[in-house]
Amino acid sequence: MGKGVMEKVLSDKSVDDLRHSLVGTIILPMDAGYDAARRGFNALIDRRPAVIARCANAGDVAVAFDFAQEHKLEIAVRGGGHNPAGHCVCDGGFVIDLSRMRTVEVDVSRRIARSEGGATWLDFDSATQAFGLVTPGGVVVSTGVVGLSLGGGIGHLTAQYGLTCDHIISAELVIPDGTVVRANADENAELLWGLRGAGGNFGVVTRVEFRLHPLKQVIGGRCVFRGAGVREALLRYRDVVGHSPRDLSCQVSLAIDESLVPILEIDPCYTGPDADPEVLRVLRSGPGLIQDEVRTLPFLDQQRVIDTAYGEKRHYWKGHFVRELPDELLDEILHRITALGRPAGGIMIESLHGAPKNADTPPGAVGFRHAAFNVSVMAVWQDPALDAEQIAWARQGAAAIEPWSYSGGGYVNYMQADEPIERVRATFGLETFARLQKLKKQYDPQNILHRNQNVPPV
Ligand SMILES: Cc1cc2nc3c(=O)[nH]c(=O)nc-3n(C[C@H](O)[C@H](O)[C@H](O)COP(=O)(O)OP(=O)(O)OC[C@H]3O[C@@H](n4cnc5c(N)ncnc54)[C@H](O)[C@@H]3O)c2cc1C
Repeated sequence: MGKGVMEKVLSDKSVDDLRHSLVGTIILPMDAGYDAARRGFNALIDRRPAVIARCANAGDVAVAFDFAQEHKLEIAVRGGGHNPAGHCVCDGGFVIDLSRMRTVEVDVSRRIARSEGGATWLDFDSATQAFGLVTPGGVVVSTGVVGLSLGGGIGHLTAQYGLTCDHIISAELVIPDGTVVRANADENAELLWGLRGAGGNFGVVTRVEFRLHPLKQVIGGRCVFRGAGVREALLRYRDVVGHSPRDLSCQVSLAIDESLVPILEIDPCYTGPDADPEVLRVLRSGPGLIQDEVRTLPFLDQQRVIDTAYGEKRHYWKGHFVRELPDELLDEILHRITALGRPAGGIMIESLHGAPKNADTPPGAVGFRHAAFNVSVMAVWQDPALDAEQIAWARQGAAAIEPWSYSGGGYVNYMQADEPIERVRATFGLETFARLQKLKKQYDPQNILHRNQNVPPV
């Protein structure tokens, strides 16, 4: 949207009225801090919203919805700003920014955490670990708690406790008409079901309650293999997690160095009773081990093992949940990582063994829990001149994995904005998608919240 149009849409008076109606603050293009406030994790996305409203509570979110719709501004919702598709920001539109709403309260006796809509995993884990409690979350602490949970949530404790969305007990949302709605087992249970997997579609979640588990320390960290031993390390990884050890969550990332030699990082997280568990000995004893930092550590330190710079690099991710990880697919993955002829990013494999498959998991829309692994080709680069080839590398890598795809869909939390609706539908399955569309019609019939992996209303 050009400057003239923005001025016409937003008079000084209307902006002043908005400012005075909010407990929180607004940030406009001429304000100091605007560039930092519009920046997301993915530097490939460079958008200039007309207004960023840093809401302080649910009332502010309702005001924001009202203002944006009255002025016909597109709406984006921002939690932790990590979504690689850049859904948290839109050109010329209105950003409902929840980054002021980060309080996390812990009810120790009921083992419940109550998180505001903009908390990060650092906020959450710091609050819950103060009482030796945990909810399985993401592996990078600056990621938004609610954004991650609403799409599923895979991390260091997935095998032990299940997906993050399985831990949502209740939520408070502001829906686009400004109404505050509650979802729990007794009230709007269908909405609670939808929030567990397709959550960003229905309203702005201002508060969520999560179930907690007792956990203080783990055996975690990382180990790294280089060169010819990488294939053997991948086979061992596949075989170890294939036995579904419920006390071991594990993900791996494959990359190449400047000399095109493969490097595999294994990030285990063991919570069982053994001081020197057999599963970790198997993972670490293969050839080519160049770094071994696997050790006992507090859970908060485990949450800092994987980190990545915010807003500095360009990202394009594409992948598939797969049914299995046969040798043939692992060889394809090893081939793909060198296909560009120079370092292009990485290929990450997350295992979904263990608790995601529990029969007593609360009902939810999430469609991937019965897949074996999530394989993501993650192009990461800095130079804009490389955009086309990096994006092509990720797309070709994902296409090569597709024959093993579990459903044809991908992980909504990692998808770019260019995924066609067919792929979002495949992610949930036809029946679930149709049910989500009905839910969407009930809570957001105009599809005001469409900057997400969208479920259009029926
Ligand atoms: C470095 C990095 C590490 C990651 N690690 C993991 C991981 O370990 N496990 C995993 O499962 N995923 C992971 N992800 C993916 C991540 O969970 C999703 O991208 C998620 O959408 C990020 O949420 P956010 O709030 O940080 O992002 P934002 O970009 O702020 O929000 C993304 C979208 O989520 C929705 N949303 C966010 N908050 C709310 C709210 N309060 N109410 C309603 N809708 C909301 C909106 O649709 C919003 O546009 C990672 C992503 C990155 C970039």
